[in-house]
Amino acid sequence: MSELGISPLTKGDRHLSVDEARAAIAAALRPITEGETVPLARALGRVLGSDVISPIDVPAHDNSAMDGYAFAGAALAAGGVTRLRSVGTLYAGAPYAGEVRAGECLRIMTGAVMPEGLDTVVPLELCSVAGEQVAIEPGVITPGENRRRRGEDLALGRPALQAGRVLRPADLGLAASLGLAELPVLRPLRVALFSTGDELRTLGQALEPGCVYDSNRYSLMGALQRLGMEVIDLGLVPDDRAALQATLQAAVAQADVVLTSGGVSMGDADYTREVLAAMGEVAFWKVAMRPGRPFAFGPLQRPGGQPPSWLFALPGNPVAALVTFYAFAREALLRLAGARPEPLPTLQAPCTAAIRKRPGRTEFQRAVVEPAPAGGWQVRLTGSQGAGVLRSMSEANALLVLRHDQASVAAGDFVDVWLFDGLV
Ligand code: AMP
Ligand code: MG
Repeated sequence: MSELGISPLTKGDRHLSVDEARAAIAAALRPITEGETVPLARALGRVLGSDVISPIDVPAHDNSAMDGYAFAGAALAAGGVTRLRSVGTLYAGAPYAGEVRAGECLRIMTGAVMPEGLDTVVPLELCSVAGEQVAIEPGVITPGENRRRRGEDLALGRPALQAGRVLRPADLGLAASLGLAELPVLRPLRVALFSTGDELRTLGQALEPGCVYDSNRYSLMGALQRLGMEVIDLGLVPDDRAALQATLQAAVAQADVVLTSGGVSMGDADYTREVLAAMGEVAFWKVAMRPGRPFAFGPLQRPGGQPPSWLFALPGNPVAALVTFYAFAREALLRLAGARPEPLPTLQAPCTAAIRKRPGRTEFQRAVVEPAPAGGWQVRLTGSQGAGVLRSMSEANALLVLRHDQASVAAGDFVDVWLFDGLV
C-alpha cells in the first residue's frame, strides 16, 4: 500500500484537495506500451506510439509563396523603379528548364520551384505590367520576400510529430505531406464500465416505483468514446456482494481500467470495501469538492502477473459522476493510454451573479459561457445545481470552477471556466 502512497491519505478525517487527489493518481499510473500500425485515414484521435522523424524536406525545394514575378533580389534599384523583362511562365509541378539573365524575370505561380539564381517574388498586385515589361516601384518589396525555403515546414531527420500526441486533423495532413501511408499508434485503452444500485433499471425495463433509469452508464460511455477508449459494457450490478465480486473479476480479466458509478457512499461502502480489499489496494478518498464525494481509486490485481487494472469508482449522483470523471479520470485515462494530456482549456470570464462559497473545497458549477452584451465573454450558472440534476450539465457548455482557497465571488468577478469544447 505504501508503495502507491495513496493509503495513508485515507486515514482519519482529513479531506484531500482536488489537486492532491489528481497528483496521487498521476503518480501511481504506468502507461500501456503495446502498439499497432494503422493506415493514416484511420489514425484520427489515436495516440502516436513513437516519434515520427521526417524522411524528407518539406517543401522539397525553394518555391514561390505567391502568384507574381520571380527575379534576383539584387536587381532591385536603390530608390528608383526596377524594370525587368519577363521571359517565360512557370507553373507549379515542373522546374524551369531555361535560363534567366540579369534584367529578366519569370511569371511564377504559387508553389512553383524557384529557378536557380532567383530569390524574390513580387506579387502580381504590387507591380505594373505592360506586355513583357514589369515595373516595380521602390519600397514595395525587399530581396528574399515571398520565397518559401526548402525544409522550412519540416526538415529531413527532425522529429515531425512526438510520441504521445493524440492525433488531430492537421497531424494526419502533416504525415501525408511526408509521404507516410501509416502511423505507429498505441492500442486503445480497454475500459470496463458498470453501474451499481438496486434501484437502477436498464433501458427497456419498466420503471417500478422508487426506481430510476441507469443514466450514468450512457454519460460515461460517451465520455470514454470521446477519448478514443474501447468500452466494455458490463451493464448493471445490484447492491450484492457476490454480484459485485463476479463483475469485478470479469472486468479485470478484460480491461486496463474498471470504471464504476454508485455504491461507494457511506451506507454501501462497507461490503464494497471488503470485496475490493480482497482484490487490490483501493483507497476510499474523501475529496474536498462539490459535487463529487465519495470517490475511490486504486489498483486491482489481474491474473497471470499482468499489470494491475485501475479502479475509478465514481459517486452515483449523475452530475457528480461526470464531474469526478472530468476532474480525475479523464486525464488519468489519457496518461494510461500513453498520451501526454495537454492542460484543460481553462478560461477566465466574469460571472453574471454572485456565488456563495467557503474556502476549503473546490466547487464545480454547471455554466454557460456566452458573449457579453458589452463585448467579450461572460459566464452564468445553469439552473439548479443539485448533484443529481443532470439537466444542469446537459444545458451547460462549461464548468465554472471555484478553486480550493477561493471564497464567495461577487457579480462581475472573474472566475475559472473549463470549456467543454476540447474537454469532451
Ligand atoms: P450512490 O452513490 O450509489 O449512493 O447513489 C447516489 C444517487 O445517485 C442515488 O440517488 C442513486 O439512485 C443515483 N444513481 C446511482 N447510480 C446511478 C446511475 N447509474 N444512473 C442514475 N442515477 C444513479
Ligand atoms: Mg447506490
